Amino acid sequence: MIDSHCHIDMPQFDADRDEVVARAKAAGIERMLLVGGVDEENGHLRAIKVADSLGFPASAGVHPHEARLATEKTWDELEGLANEKRIVAIGEIGLDFHYDHSPRDTQREVFRRQVRLARKVGLPVIIHTREADSETCDLLEEEKAGECGGVIHCFTGGHELADRALALGFYVSFSGILAFPRAEVIQQVAKKVPADRLLVETDAPFLAPPPHRGKRNEPAFVTEVAKKVAALRETSVEAIGAAVTANFQRLFPRARD
Ligand SMILES: [Zn+2]
Ligand SMILES: [Zn+2]
Repeated sequence: MIDSHCHIDMPQFDADRDEVVARAKAAGIERMLLVGGVDEENGHLRAIKVADSLGFPASAGVHPHEARLATEKTWDELEGLANEKRIVAIGEIGLDFHYDHSPRDTQREVFRRQVRLARKVGLPVIIHTREADSETCDLLEEEKAGECGGVIHCFTGGHELADRALALGFYVSFSGILAFPRAEVIQQVAKKVPADRLLVETDAPFLAPPPHRGKRNEPAFVTEVAKKVAALRETSVEAIGAAVTANFQRLFPRARD
């Protein structure tokens, strides 16, 4: 099994990061992707540092929450990072009209520019979208994001987002939200996504799935997400594990070594 999206570089894990990784490995999670760009300006630098020390892949990008902090220096640094082998994707990037931590026009501009960068350097994108499904799809289509590929992380959208993302060749990643009450539409999408486009993630420390809900999330709990996906698709957890492992390698070729 693989946790395709976590933030174990965040301070919530400073006291027991090694134990968290050991618990993940004991649960059969051999690999995880440390996604940068959340929580603070240049948050990816922290993700990369921790990923290096643990031997896991990382991504770099400016989260929509932090879009207002991006400067010309950010762009130069991001392009430099994107050319480093340990960076397997540009992300997380996108639009968040739920929290609106950055002005929407700034979010749009920073998102568009990062999709262009991803195409230029040939890396896939990790998309964060909240209450902005249609606009996110419009922008990905306009910028021909199908050419670099990517994943809609922590899928919480509707059928339109799933269909348009799949049409672009994108992957869809499910988190613990899948197992929350009132997640019927997300569960319907989890049933219909083709097996070769499916990923699972924790987004730790956020969004712990039942039975851990309300606690700090951690990569070991991705097995709960996989169990839920397996139950919905009437298949085994082992089959989901094999599918997501193959999909992860295909989407993030740089994560292979
Ligand atoms: Zn996100
Ligand atoms: Zn995240």
